[in-house]
Amino acid sequence: MQEQFIVYENPVLHRENNGSQVVVSGSDNVVLNVIDVPEYLYTCDFCNDDIEVQTDDGKPLSVFVLNNTHALCQVCVKQSFTYDLTMYDRIGWCSCCTNEDVDKYLYIENDNTYSPIARFSTQDQADWFGELYAGHTGRELICIHGELTEPLQENE
Ligand SMILES: [Zn+2]
Ligand SMILES: [Zn+2]
Repeated sequence: MQEQFIVYENPVLHRENNGSQVVVSGSDNVVLNVIDVPEYLYTCDFCNDDIEVQTDDGKPLSVFVLNNTHALCQVCVKQSFTYDLTMYDRIGWCSCCTNEDVDKYLYIENDNTYSPIARFSTQDQADWFGELYAGHTGRELICIHGELTEPLQENE
């Protein structure tokens, strides 16, 4: 199976929509435990670090979720892209928790055609992703503030 990141643009809303139980599974995907967690509590499934889901003034921060199952911190997101750069080409955007305030779009330019790669509501996250992308691919993304004309790939 090809690995894919799904982005939750509003992680707290995502939990409100989908319930906020975390399934703890052992090897062979045997379910060991199911725990109720607060909507805002996201921890990295790889390193257990806390993942910030909103800014101090309450703006949602996007969370990258590997195969729609494992929420990862920024360090582990970077690591995952390192293993497979083609994952940049198939990022999905969860349609249940779209953040209407998103206004920073990152485009790649090919022969004067601009294709959207990602979008964020905070400049910090846009900068973080732009640096990640440039570091891995050697290509700069162009950040445009405002409306997007072409839809990003949605994860149904
Ligand atoms: Zn991590
Ligand atoms: Zn969602």
